[in-house]
Amino acid sequence: MTPEECIFCKIHKGLIDSEILYSDDNCFVIRDISPRAPVHLLVIPVLHITRLVDVNIQDAHILGGMLKVASVMAIRENIVESGYRLVVNQGENAGQVVPHLHLHILGAKSLAAMG
Ligand code: 5GP
Ligand code: ZN
Repeated sequence: MTPEECIFCKIHKGLIDSEILYSDDNCFVIRDISPRAPVHLLVIPVLHITRLVDVNIQDAHILGGMLKVASVMAIRENIVESGYRLVVNQGENAGQVVPHLHLHILGAKSLAAMG
């Protein structure tokens, strides 16, 4: 899939409507359109990267930035004390639907039963 066809690239360019909760040079954050927890955010790199194995060493700082932004969002959403889960689905067996790397932040309910 090219960046021109990609849902997350289209959202970043403003071609598809979605509230951007956070944005910097490396990544941006939106709410998941079909949330599986009361807090379900997606941290998405601006660069159209499909999988973690596709990240070049020159771009590796983007991953650290995404984790830092996830912490900022967890504080903003008030889920630090109650706990939350970070998930990166990679490929078909993991159920990755959107072929643009993204970090799920799930919280504000017990996720223990979800495995
Ligand atoms: P994946 O299964 O690829 O890890 O997760 C993709 C996520 O993107 C899914 O949880 C899905 O609900 C979410 N998603 C797909 N299309 C859109 C969209 O157009 N807007 C938003 N906000 N989320 C989307
Ligand atoms: Zn993309």
